[in-house]
Amino acid sequence: MPGDPVNFTVLHRTCKLVVLLCLLHISVTVVFYVRSLDIQFAFAQNQQSHNVIQKNGVRHTGSTSGFEVKAAEVKKEVSAEEQPVEPQPVEPVKKLEKCPETSPLLVGPLRVEFNTPVNLKQVKQDNPNVQLGGRFKPKDCEALQKVAIIIPFRKRDEHLKYWLYYLHPILQRQQLDYGVYVINQDGDEIFNRAKLLNVGYMEALKEYDYGCFVFSDVDLIPMDDRNTYKCFSQPRHLSVSMDKFGFRLPYNQYFGGVSSMSKEQYLKINGFPNNYWGWGGEDDDIFNRLSSKGMSISRPNGEVGKCRMIRHERDQQNEPNPQRFDRIAHTRETMNKDGINSLSYKVVKMEKFDLFTKITVDVGKP
Ligand code: BGC
Repeated sequence: MPGDPVNFTVLHRTCKLVVLLCLLHISVTVVFYVRSLDIQFAFAQNQQSHNVIQKNGVRHTGSTSGFEVKAAEVKKEVSAEEQPVEPQPVEPVKKLEKCPETSPLLVGPLRVEFNTPVNLKQVKQDNPNVQLGGRFKPKDCEALQKVAIIIPFRKRDEHLKYWLYYLHPILQRQQLDYGVYVINQDGDEIFNRAKLLNVGYMEALKEYDYGCFVFSDVDLIPMDDRNTYKCFSQPRHLSVSMDKFGFRLPYNQYFGGVSSMSKEQYLKINGFPNNYWGWGGEDDDIFNRLSSKGMSISRPNGEVGKCRMIRHERDQQNEPNPQRFDRIAHTRETMNKDGINSLSYKVVKMEKFDLFTKITVDVGKP
């Protein structure tokens, strides 16, 4: 038949084409299969490096594939948030050593004079470590005592300036943790020194845990910094040799001027009398209180205890108290009901100055 060979040739070619197509299909399939194996391998590697980073927080450096870049990025996040925090050495709060019993900063005898007026701004500059309100504590050691210095006051600003000028450097050299409280009697009623001292005791304790109280007239300046303004096992009399009395005690029981008492000593005598209006006698009453409770007076020697008084006219409204002799004669009977347990007053104003705290009080009248 004339058409048969043609048909056979066509069939042959068609078969060849089909076989070729099959081969092509198979090779494409093989290529894709092999590539997919590659990808799986790389993924497995990446997973491994990711795990290493999470576990150790360090970079896995074994591969240069694109996955490694991602891993490094992950590492960044992890290092910021989840990396275990190395325990930092905590700075221990430095516990200061106690200051020595005798301060090494003391210089001994001092020149004290009252000819040059005092500029308080200058005093502030000269005492940069004194804090607002007249507070100070040593930086290099823990003070042995917390001392409140109480100054009964009215209209003696010039004297106060001298007191601040001389005393701040001395008290700092004595390595005390101290505060200065000026208790200012409000109004023009007759002056009451002992009651102001009681107020000072109360008010200072509201502010800080003082254990020692120094009661000082505003016009008395020590002439030797070894006369430490602190407390002793017995109540202390500090102004033992005043220029006014020829540098000696006017009488053995004298307890006026500057004295110090621990909180316990002060409470044992029910504080000070509140009913001595005008000049004199209150310090003798305090002496009687102390001796009636079996305490004795401790004093520095006459050399160390030297001090100067700023000369002045007698204050107005502070005339000698004519009742003082009678009152002193009855201290033992009155001291348990007249003292810190019967104290009443009103704080009118509280002011914090650079070098002292001023508390103005209404103490009433006789
Ligand atoms: C007074 C005291 C005073 C002393 C020294 C005495 O007569 O009663 O208060 O301190 O003299 O002046």
